[in-house]
Order: sequence, then structure tokens, then C-alpha cells
Amino acid sequence: MATSEGEDLCRRCGRCCCRKFVIRDIVYHTPFFCPHLNPETRLCRVYEHRFEVNPQCLSVNLGLARGVFPADCPYTAGSEDYRAPVEHLDFFGLGKLARQIAEELEVSEEEFERVRREQAATARAQGGTHDAGQP
Ligand code: SF4
Ligand code: SF4
Repeated sequence: MATSEGEDLCRRCGRCCCRKFVIRDIVYHTPFFCPHLNPETRLCRVYEHRFEVNPQCLSVNLGLARGVFPADCPYTAGSEDYRAPVEHLDFFGLGKLARQIAEELEVSEEEFERVRREQAATARAQGGTHDAGQP
């Protein structure tokens, strides 16, 4: 999306560069990043050629039209009637559906398990009762 050292508005949170799915016109963010995002810096590794490298990468205008930017993303400012995506879905709590969605998004099994364990550990550290939604 818009992660680049050169972008003035972008805060480089990386949240628009997660993989997403749409159900009944509602966009849902998943906990899996685009493989081209550096998870440490939250910068795109292929920014200059992102549209060639990743045909699913959206321009700012398309991203706004499709509602993929979080509500607090600076690019949404001034966009009347903007409908932000659902970001804080308990993705792994979806059970088998989570696996199906991940498969459709071509998330590897390794990545799926890594993120699931990571989220479960975070939930435990925060004193939550998240059971990682073992599908
Ligand atoms: S290619 Fe991926 S990481 Fe790069 S801007 Fe597009 S969605 Fe983000
Ligand atoms: S959500 Fe907005 S601020 Fe965050 S990386 Fe994307 S464009 Fe930048």
C-alpha cells in the first residue's frame, strides 16, 4: 500500500499491508502480513515495483475506494462516508474458517502456526483467555 520512507502521510504502521478478505462487502484484516512487508520496519521491501511484484497491492485511491485503510490512517482524512475495515477480528477464533481463509490467501502452514502461536502468547501475556482458536 503506502509504506515507504518517502511517503509523508504514511505513519508506517503497516496495517494496510496485511492480507484481507471480504464478506458481504465488509473488509476484514487478517493477522498475516503481505510477504513483501518487512515486519520489523513495517516498510515495503519492493515499494518501487510493488504493483508489478504484487498485482494485489492497491494504490492509495483504490485502497480508499475498497476500504482497506484503518479509520485512523491519515489517508482516510477527509474521505466522507469512508467505511474502514474490521481490524480486530478474533481471527483464530474462527476455527476451521480461519484455515480456509488462510489457504485462500495462500498463507503457508508455517506462517499460520507462527502467527497463531504469537497471538496466543500475546493474549496470555496480557492475561487474556485466548486459546489460540485451534481449528
Ligand atoms: S507489496 Fe505488499 S508490503 Fe508492499 S506496499 Fe503492497 S501490500 Fe504493502
Ligand atoms: S495504514 Fe496508513 S499509515 Fe499505516 S502503513 Fe498503511 S498507509 Fe501508512
